[in-house]
Amino acid sequence: MIKSINVKTRSRAEFVNITSDVQKIVKESGIKSGICYVYVPHTTAGVTINEGADPSVVRDMQVFFNKLVPHSGDYMHMEGNSDAHIKTALAGPSQVIIVNDGKLLLGTWQAIFFCEFDGARDRRVHVKIMKDA
Ligand code: ZN
Repeated sequence: MIKSINVKTRSRAEFVNITSDVQKIVKESGIKSGICYVYVPHTTAGVTINEGADPSVVRDMQVFFNKLVPHSGDYMHMEGNSDAHIKTALAGPSQVIIVNDGKLLLGTWQAIFFCEFDGARDRRVHVKIMKDA
């Protein structure tokens, strides 16, 4: 079973909290114990898990990403979005979360963020839940 979440980003760089969308899929699956895979099928967007309580954390991460990988630089890629590809490589395309008692086993302050690096666009996130054998 694979479910997908549609994410509509509104700016070039944006971290979207998708925790409740993923949790909803876990709940609907009826699976109480297992593993949840969250996969982003894009080359200029990724997914990360980090603090969801204070929005400054995500803001600071974006500032750091931009400092580390500027939009303009010694890039050859014709599309002009090499920074977005590199930032995506750093964030990665997937996360794995333990499902326990029918819920994502995230820490108190953890949230799942879709990381847009080349928006605004219509994006997708695939979610697969594997039940314990
Ligand atoms: Zn490109």
